[in-house]
Amino acid sequence: MMQHPLLPIFAEPQHFASFEIILLLALAAASAALFFLRFAPILRTIFAARKDLGWSLSPIASRVKDFVWEVLLQGKVIRERPLPGLAHAFVFWGFLAFALVSLNHLAVGLNLGFLPPDSLIGRFYFTFAAVWALLVAISIAGLFVRRFFARPIWLGSKVSIESGVIAALIFILMATYLATFFTPGVASGPQAETTLKALWWTHTLALLIFLPLIPHTKHLHLVLSPFTIFLKRDGFSAIPPLSTDENVEDFGLATGKDITQIVALQAYSCVECGRCTEHCPASATGKVLNPKEIILGTRSYLNTFGPHSDTPLLTDLRPEGLSSRSGAERSASPTANTFSTEAAYECTTCGACEYQCPVGIQHLPILIGLRRGATNTGAWQDPYGTKLFLALEKSGNALGLPAAERDKFIARAALPIFDGTQEYCLWLGCMGAYDPHGREIIADFARVMTHLGTSFGVLRKEKCTGDPARRLGNDLVFQTLAESGLATFGAQKVQKIVAICPHCVRTIATDWRDFGIAPEIEHHSEFMARHAARLPHSTVILTLSKQSESKGKNPRISPGDPQDSAPTDNQQPATNNSVVYHDPCYLGRYQSIYAEPRAVIQQQATLVEAPRNRERSFCCGAGGGLAFLGEEKSARGSDEPPTRVSHVRARELAATGAGTVATACPFCNTMFRDALAAITPADATPPQLLDIAQLTARNLRTK
Ligand code: SF4
Ligand code: SF4
Repeated sequence: MMQHPLLPIFAEPQHFASFEIILLLALAAASAALFFLRFAPILRTIFAARKDLGWSLSPIASRVKDFVWEVLLQGKVIRERPLPGLAHAFVFWGFLAFALVSLNHLAVGLNLGFLPPDSLIGRFYFTFAAVWALLVAISIAGLFVRRFFARPIWLGSKVSIESGVIAALIFILMATYLATFFTPGVASGPQAETTLKALWWTHTLALLIFLPLIPHTKHLHLVLSPFTIFLKRDGFSAIPPLSTDENVEDFGLATGKDITQIVALQAYSCVECGRCTEHCPASATGKVLNPKEIILGTRSYLNTFGPHSDTPLLTDLRPEGLSSRSGAERSASPTANTFSTEAAYECTTCGACEYQCPVGIQHLPILIGLRRGATNTGAWQDPYGTKLFLALEKSGNALGLPAAERDKFIARAALPIFDGTQEYCLWLGCMGAYDPHGREIIADFARVMTHLGTSFGVLRKEKCTGDPARRLGNDLVFQTLAESGLATFGAQKVQKIVAICPHCVRTIATDWRDFGIAPEIEHHSEFMARHAARLPHSTVILTLSKQSESKGKNPRISPGDPQDSAPTDNQQPATNNSVVYHDPCYLGRYQSIYAEPRAVIQQQATLVEAPRNRERSFCCGAGGGLAFLGEEKSARGSDEPPTRVSHVRARELAATGAGTVATACPFCNTMFRDALAAITPADATPPQLLDIAQLTARNLRTK
């Protein structure tokens, strides 16, 4: 074939002597042996771990979809961090493009090359790979500069030498490949053959050094993450069932014996990118919890103790001297204690970590599993937790109030009782039934339903869904409440439920499935968005109430505290008619409901967005049972009062300048009620705080 005078052509050595072939085979065998020396024990550990209960390959279609989007298209990595994400994607795609080149490269060293450079296919393919080589070289150089000279804070302060070595090896691979295009072919004489051989051996050595480094470094994700993403548990924050076998002790993640194959696979897949920690509200407010360290702690445990160990997973529950890290390491590293009981119970279960992870790691089953292991075995002792569980057991609601209080509210608000003839059962939830502000939301939503002519009723008796017990790891209390709720729905012949609380919706629709199938349930944002055409449109929002005067108060909801239910209806036109919407974690990330609450707000006002919105919304601090535990602890190593998650988010919402903060969750509402008051200077007025049902109902009243 004729060579185009302007197009360089790929060149390769023509012949390898016997001693070169023997050397190549020896080096390749050594490289493969070093690879498997580490990779085989990792595989053994993963396969030796406990099988995952309730895991199934179906639905296969969603697995294939995630695989294509997250692995092949690198969609998640690019979407969350566009520039470094694209650089990372180029390296990945370049590796794929190089697969055939690398195979042919090694085959050439055995005089068995199968892709002649001057054939039509060879010319096309080598040129195609050269374009990728250029992109990979530029990308890896950019990632190197970012990691070593413009290091983002979430990567941690420890500079990884191995990352530098890997980057250098990849760069050498690309540079030696590209250089062959500018080397005269062997026809030019023996000097050219020598140069090509030198390039070939440099490329080969880089390849053979790179291979064994993979399982010894975080680059293990190159091999494992496609499997991790394809095999991850179906569903967001999916909490696996506990074994019902009487001969099996299963309390959650208490010891190594409880680590499952998927947890082990995920622990070894972590690429240590720190995305989870970057988005974690606990980490961002200086708590001990660091989700990346939880995953690395699981890996460290498996490496130290293995998957059959009786050693407690949480470091502070281990007998002296059984920590996975030495005492010196523990005191030297500020993150060494993050695999602790304290860390596990600081999680708000907001799901930001799980949502962000580029390699399919599911933090919440692990974090909630650790809590289950500590709560179910009685190892976790916390006065607020004990008070909450007692309240749930004795009163059937998280606030620990007598059911008569709920009856009084229903009578005062003139809510109809569900008798099986109405279309909807309006689920009150603990907040809607017992919290004064939650009651206001229920009353306003009931007015909206009445305006629409929808028939509904509330249950005569209703208990908590068990959400805080579930997230705090108390399976017995959760199961009792779930079974009781399912029995009530069955007895009352409930067909459709609507609720104002995303935690209730999620728990009834998803978590209760372990014990039966609940009737269809939807969030009130979905209900109102569906009926938007028949709801009032307005551009004037009336203020609802005085904000809480409890500046700086811990927003913990205390079971048994007297709940003042006096309505505070002090209507005045708002001065600024824009509304900023806070996406509740359990509505957004957990249920992908973003458009509906926005549609409801846009009927009433101008919607403005907070800097972190939708999937990237920042938690209010209440989830995971923390509304009842509070944030008692100071930031790591500090005597200062703790920075509250709710204050950080409230500042961000207030900074938008919107006159109203809209929520779609009674827990968010409670957290912000206190936080907005606390962060507002004494001489200023905080933005008013309204649930989306209240926004709509305000304008019903003006008709
Ligand atoms: S769920 Fe939220 S609070 Fe918990 S570790 Fe993940 S990001 Fe942090
Ligand atoms: S768990 Fe996921 S997001 Fe967190 S550091 Fe590891 S790979 Fe990154």
